[in-house]
Amino acid sequence: MLSESRKVLLLNSSFEPITIVSIKKAIVMYFLDKVDFLEKSEKKISSISLSIPVPHVIKLKKYIYLKPLSVSLTRTNIFKRDNKTCQYCGSKSSIMTIDHIVPKDKGGKDTWTNLVTACKKCNLHKANFSLKDRKMNLCKKPAKPSYLMHLQKYKYKHSSWNQYIYL
Ligand SMILES: [Zn+2]
Repeated sequence: MLSESRKVLLLNSSFEPITIVSIKKAIVMYFLDKVDFLEKSEKKISSISLSIPVPHVIKLKKYIYLKPLSVSLTRTNIFKRDNKTCQYCGSKSSIMTIDHIVPKDKGGKDTWTNLVTACKKCNLHKANFSLKDRKMNLCKKPAKPSYLMHLQKYKYKHSSWNQYIYL
């Protein structure tokens, strides 16, 4: 049986990563003659009428023009960008919070540059103050992650993806 968590990396014909698709979708695209399998498993998906290898990386036959993909601003993606590490003290724990660098009541917005992962202790200490008020510093300047970085940190990536997502 195929694990539901298994995903396939879809590349443009230029080898640029586009997105992640399900194995099912990858196979449909293959039968529509839209993709080639670049990396595949020894294992086969078999039914009465067919037997094809399980794909890991597929590539479009025809180039498609796309807007640069962006990573959506969610709690999970902020934790992922920050490697679930407190951006104030550098500690790591399974229970993390999201902190507004400029507090909401002082006009701070929900943006990639104003939201960081913080441990409970630092979040409580900072409360509704500014960094300056609390003499706190950030480990690194928060920025919007690139889609490539997002893929690199993807939980279910197959090791064969690496040669396409690390440039
Ligand atoms: Zn902390």
